Amino acid sequence: MTKTILHIDLDTFYVSVERQLNRELQNRPLLVGGTGDRGVVAACSYETRGFGVHSGMPMKMARELCPEAVVIRGNAGTYSQYSDVVTEIIKEKVPLFEKSSIDEFYADLSGMDRFFGAYKYATELRQKIINETGLPISFGLSVNKVVSKVATNEAKPNNQLKVDKGWEKPFLAPLSIKKIPMVGDKTYQTLRNLGLRQVRTVQEMPMEVMQRVLGANGTVIWKRANGMDNTPVIPFCERKSISTERTFDRDTIDVHKLKGVLIAMTENLAYQLRRGEKLTACISVKIRYSDFNTYSKQLRIPYTSADHILIPKILELFKALYNRRLLVRLIGIRFSHLVSGNYQINLFDDTEEILNLYNALDTIRERYGDKSVIRAAGLGAKTIGRMHNPFNGQPPVVLAHRKQ
Ligand SMILES: [Mg+2]
Repeated sequence: MTKTILHIDLDTFYVSVERQLNRELQNRPLLVGGTGDRGVVAACSYETRGFGVHSGMPMKMARELCPEAVVIRGNAGTYSQYSDVVTEIIKEKVPLFEKSSIDEFYADLSGMDRFFGAYKYATELRQKIINETGLPISFGLSVNKVVSKVATNEAKPNNQLKVDKGWEKPFLAPLSIKKIPMVGDKTYQTLRNLGLRQVRTVQEMPMEVMQRVLGANGTVIWKRANGMDNTPVIPFCERKSISTERTFDRDTIDVHKLKGVLIAMTENLAYQLRRGEKLTACISVKIRYSDFNTYSKQLRIPYTSADHILIPKILELFKALYNRRLLVRLIGIRFSHLVSGNYQINLFDDTEEILNLYNALDTIRERYGDKSVIRAAGLGAKTIGRMHNPFNGQPPVVLAHRKQ
């Protein structure tokens, strides 16, 4: 059965939220990110891009390239709130949707054609989001996720595009191979060195050639170039959470030890998040007392994957939860409401040093195992198990310097 998949993506999300909060920023070049000496650009408006500005670059450099830009220190809490509002609107209108990042959604509108028309429905949904939030948003509609995502990017800014069934290949053919999702800078260079520029050329090649050059990735890229993709829309409510817990050999009342274990667990799970390029917006702590009564407490937080933000919140939850002064048999933590994204969202308060620190720590963990570097406070908790990548076995990407 042919599917109808909608991809919907807020345009320059952080920039648009800032403009919504302050109308005077409309049409002016705008940089959002860390404003300190060593801050990093998290988002930049279309007006700045002609100057060579892109996200991930040092703010200082961006200011030099585009001196007339207004610079705003971002706020993860505000953006998470706006993201939630948009999510609620979509949830109300669409039974099956996936929140793939803080500003990006897929929805499966298959079967809607008969009585409504998916394109009309998507148009109305987009209009509703614009009316209720004031944020510009674009969508692409086609038979699968990949083609719809490319269509959204072609539609931007603030527009919409549908690719009718059967027109996937001709739609993709004239585009640059760079526009195929998963063709990053490195793959792009490899393909360019082979003399490939347009998707059309990939379409005309045998799949085996791509496979020989790029391995398994080559096959996927070839299929995508040909408009083929059958990845399902993963319902938001079933989105995977990650968790870890620990049962003590002997029940304990040693708060210092319990905190140490929680810190080690948080560090470990936060690393798993970053490794899978995920962010969490909901954390919870669980305690089982020696009498087997189990309690848990959860907290909504702005999207993050940074230890230094998560650890104090986990300890705060623990403090609120641990009130029976009984022996503890088990403790555990869980991160849920996961979406894709990297920790640029937390760069507003922080600097390149913090970013580099995370990158360095994660690189060491990647090479020598995830307990090779741990916080001193979590040192006592040596038995937090080594975890496999809980996401999909994709190669780890720890760089936050990713272009939008
Ligand atoms: Mg976006």
